[in-house]
Amino acid sequence: MMTNTNDIKAVRPWKMINRRKCRQIMVGNVPVGGDAPITVQSMTNTLTADVQGTIEQIRRMETVGVDIARCSCPDEESTAALKDIIKAVSVPIVADIHFHYKRGIEAAEAGAACLRINPGNIGSADRVAEIVKAAKDHNCSIRIGVNAGSLETEILEKYGEPCPEAMVESALAHAKILEDHDFFNFKISVKASDVFLSVEAYRQLAAACDYPLHIGITEAGGLRTGTVKSAVGMGLLLGQGIGDTIRVSLSAEVEEEVRVGYEILKSLGLRSRGVTIVSCPTCARKRYDVIKTVQILEERLAHITTPITVSVIGCVVNGPGEAMHTDIGITGGGNNTHQIYIKGVADHRLKDGDVVEHLVELVEKRAAEIESEKTK
Ligand code: SF4
Repeated sequence: MMTNTNDIKAVRPWKMINRRKCRQIMVGNVPVGGDAPITVQSMTNTLTADVQGTIEQIRRMETVGVDIARCSCPDEESTAALKDIIKAVSVPIVADIHFHYKRGIEAAEAGAACLRINPGNIGSADRVAEIVKAAKDHNCSIRIGVNAGSLETEILEKYGEPCPEAMVESALAHAKILEDHDFFNFKISVKASDVFLSVEAYRQLAAACDYPLHIGITEAGGLRTGTVKSAVGMGLLLGQGIGDTIRVSLSAEVEEEVRVGYEILKSLGLRSRGVTIVSCPTCARKRYDVIKTVQILEERLAHITTPITVSVIGCVVNGPGEAMHTDIGITGGGNNTHQIYIKGVADHRLKDGDVVEHLVELVEKRAAEIESEKTK
């Protein structure tokens, strides 16, 4: 469920992000760009030819809310497998193609919703024309994916090294090829592993065209370092209204990419999904084990997809204030007696009870109420 939080922002202008105006394209049944919610993508790391393994991995992404999934198609076996994969999953599939125009055509024919391909890298004009025709015939969009690590030799010679101007020039040259074929159903990315390079390339590209932008910091690293780097880079862009679909590149399990993607968007109020815990770091004033409680709650509440906020605070210094803005709250008190808040209001006290079990029960109940309110 995609939720747009513009209503909330309307009354809090300091929370407002003015999204860059751009065209909207469709990746299968998922809109990208325009006023569509910013989507979260991930990519499989199985062999695409391994149909069952790839389907299972995409389903794992789906359980944590992925909007669009991408599969590499380096060979004919991969594009042949796509058809069965696409049939078995719910989210649209992007086929990642490099150089081989035939793989692009096969992927479009197999039902891929989007081809990630750089038209300048696939050879003669005839080949480009064939790919564009296949994309048009099969209602398939394209992502032009420029990467600082694989810029064209002529552009590198002109600029001396990968720089924002070089990346934008490469992206616009690829775009022109598609435009010359009367094809506008595409989005663009200009990724680099360097935050400054990537951010500046996207800023310049955002000013130079009105195509939707797929943003990300490429090869960001492992779970912790890659999360921080991606959040910093994408945060700078998203805060300026740049970015229509995101992929967090992590050397980690695919679910983590999706979870981190959502957390980045949630932190800026651009998407909402599942439980958001507001918790304190604790100090000598804490009245129960907040850190352990939060660790267990994150796991126990991972199945909830309804947007819901929970404050888990150690004492009265910040507990009541944070609870005012959350759906469910707890503030630690003396004598093992803690104050519980529901919808921002003090509701009851929990004495000698199991904090985790009590919160899980309250959050599940509140999530069910929110869902039933939606259907009324
Ligand atoms: Fe410490 Fe209380 Fe602040 Fe938590 S809310 S860090 S327990 S003072």
